[in-house]
Formats: sequence, structure tokens, C-alpha cells
Amino acid sequence: MEKNNQKNNQNYYDIAIVGAGPAGATFAKLLAEQKPDLKIVLLHDHQPERQKPCGGLLSPDAQKKLAEHQITLPKEILADPQIFAVRTVDLKQNLDCTYQRHYLNMDRYAFDEWLISLIPNKTTIMRQRYIKVIREDNDFILTLSSGQVLRSHYLVAADGAGSSIRRTFFPEKKTNNYTAIQQWFKRKDFDRAEFYCVFDPETSDSYSWFFNKNEYIVYGGAFPKQNSRELFEAQKSKFAKQMNYDLSDLVRTEACQVVFPRKFNEFFLGKENIFLLGEAAGLISASSFEGISYAIDSAEKLANAFAKVPIHSKPMKYYQNAMRKMKIKLWLKMHKRNILCQPFLRRLIMKSKITAINLKE
Ligand SMILES: Cc1cc2nc3c(=O)[nH]c(=O)nc-3n(C[C@H](O)[C@H](O)[C@H](O)COP(=O)(O)OP(=O)(O)OC[C@H]3O[C@@H](n4cnc5c(N)ncnc54)[C@H](O)[C@@H]3O)c2cc1C
Repeated sequence: MEKNNQKNNQNYYDIAIVGAGPAGATFAKLLAEQKPDLKIVLLHDHQPERQKPCGGLLSPDAQKKLAEHQITLPKEILADPQIFAVRTVDLKQNLDCTYQRHYLNMDRYAFDEWLISLIPNKTTIMRQRYIKVIREDNDFILTLSSGQVLRSHYLVAADGAGSSIRRTFFPEKKTNNYTAIQQWFKRKDFDRAEFYCVFDPETSDSYSWFFNKNEYIVYGGAFPKQNSRELFEAQKSKFAKQMNYDLSDLVRTEACQVVFPRKFNEFFLGKENIFLLGEAAGLISASSFEGISYAIDSAEKLANAFAKVPIHSKPMKYYQNAMRKMKIKLWLKMHKRNILCQPFLRRLIMKSKITAINLKE
């Protein structure tokens, strides 16, 4: 009786989704389409002045996911210029190779807002952070930044790297996180529009990136948390000097955590009625930091789990089974990363010029 009263309460939801990046927004869309009877709330705190640091490159895998859902991308989401190749450089070993690539160069904030706009109207969307969550009688009580209190039966954590839901309910399920730093500079030379993937073992055991985005050029990378800013500055200066770029006209600096998975058990999908999606679940490529496709794909698999399994039985088992292949793929990416970030092996690969393209003078 009391449970029924709670369900009739306007602040009661079957599912609360925290986060509206590619994972949360896609899940909200697909679930509302497949299960229109469910009461869903989506919480997020996107703000134009506090955008998620991101390269905004949409990989072929992510494009394929959108294609499978017959979704096309409005041209307003695209950024200038589009790219056909990425130049890979090793600053220490003086290696330089260009490889054909098929990414779409996008405005990441516009992409996230557009994904949210595809969510059916009956889903409640709140631009608010949750600040506290507790479990009560197999439900969750979420306190929002406005003080409003919501209750939900299922909790979906799509709150990205450093997920506070993961830390609250599964503190033992840690991920290896790096600090991602990006700086935006005024783009002066519009004839020179290169995209770089940068290796420099002296400053990071990961890789960095440099790209053009509309009226900006951006240098970014992932660094061990300790001394991340110093390492970033040292690497950026080295890159600017060696590649002859003027990176003096700084517009803004941004930083966030990024998951840099090292062990298979960092991929964690949740338990009972708490589900983790996208980067909150650790689903990101260790070799390229490509995470949008995994966010969309995990969202699709969880929506299918809810659609295929009666709501009060156990969608978790279905979700875990459906995610096996992706976890293995991401585990293989860890090994790819170990090869690419090993200076000797990288030298062999780049010197061989296998799959590299010849640039005409
Ligand atoms: C610097 C950088 C560059 C990258 N470049 C690329 C790239 O070019 N291509 C690519 O495919 N991947 C890239 N990635 C990875 C990619 O950005 C992520 O893997 C992807 O965004 C994960 O999607 P997500 O939906 O899981 O989480 P996110 O996109 O991180 O979304 C998290 C959501 O949670 C919300 N949130 C968090 N806390 C709360 C709270 N307390 N209350 C309410 N809402 C909350 C946020 O508002 C946001 O909506 C990059 C990552 C970094 C750090």
C-alpha cells in the first residue's frame, strides 16, 4: 500500500538516469522509445560555459552505431575542417608518419545537446546535479542541487569518468584515471590544418592530440595525475618548437578526469538495480581515448535489456551477457596501447611505414 502511494507520487520514477553525455542521452532515447510505459527522469548539468573537454572526433564505430539507428547528423554539429588523415609524431625519436583516418570533426557540446533533443518528450529532463543519493527499501532517494528530492527504483550511472555513483555504491571498483588537459588557441593560419597524434615518452606514457576546430587550434593530452600541468606544458612547448606552431594566443584551458583502463576488472557494469554505462563503467579505448561509440553501444545494450526482460525481473544479467564482446574488445585495446606506447615497438611500426600514406609535396 505504502509502495503504491510512493509510485503515485509525482517525484517517483521507475528509472533515474544520471548524466546526459552520449551514454545517458542515448539510453534515455532508446528506452523511452521501446518502453513508453516507464517513467524516466534524466539529470545532467551541461552548461555552455562549462563544456566537457573532448576532441569531438566521431569515430567510424560511433558513426556505424548512429547509422544502425537510422540517425543522420545535422551539419550544424560539424566543425571546420573535416579530416582525412592524422599525422603521428614521436617527439623524442623524431618519427613522423601520416595515416588515413575517417573521423568526423564535431562541436562536442552541440553534439551532446542534439542527442538530448532526440529524447521523446515524455521523459523528464532536469538540468540539475544530484548532490546526494541513498538506497532505501530497494529504491533510491536522490537529492538535487535545488533541494528537490526524487525517488526511483532503478539507478543508471552515466555520469562519466570519476562517476560519483560508482564511488558511492562500489568504492572498491576503482578505475585508473589520468588528468586530461586541453588548451584552445586562436587559429591564425587557416591554410595549415593538420591533425596530430603526439607521442613523447619523456612527458607521458599515453598520447596527445592537436587539431583544428573552427576558429581554434587545440592541444590536449592525458597525463599522470601528479604534476600533470607541468608535464603538459613541457610537452606542448616541445611540440610547438618541433612542429613550428605558434601556441601563444591562449583562449582557454580545460581539464577533467579520463579513464585510462589498465585491467579487465575496471570494466564494471553495476549490480542489482544500479547500472553503469559509458565511461562510468570504464568503457573507453586505452589506445585512443575514443569513448563515444562505447557510450552509445552500452546505452543500446542496456535499453535492450530493459525492453526484453520484464521490468521487475533481472535486466542486469541480460546487460552483462550483451556486454561481453565489448569488454573483450576494450581489453585488446589495452594491449594495443601497450604496443603503441612502447618506444621501441612504436619505432619499428612507424619505420615500417605499413598503412602510412605518402604526402605529396
Ligand atoms: C580530453 C578528452 C578528449 C576526448 N576526445 C574524444 C574524441 O575525440 N572522440 C571520442 O569518441 N571520445 C573522446 N573522449 C572520450 C569521450 O569524451 C568519453 O568517453 C565520452 O564522453 C563518455 O560518454 P559518457 O556519456 O559515458 O560520459 P560523459 O560524456 O562524460 O557525460 C557525463 C554526464 O554526466 C553528467 N554528470 C556528472 N555528474 C553529475 C551529477 N552529479 N549530476 C548530474 N549529472 C552529472 C554530466 O553533466 C554529463 O552529462 C575524450 C575524452 C577526453 C577527456
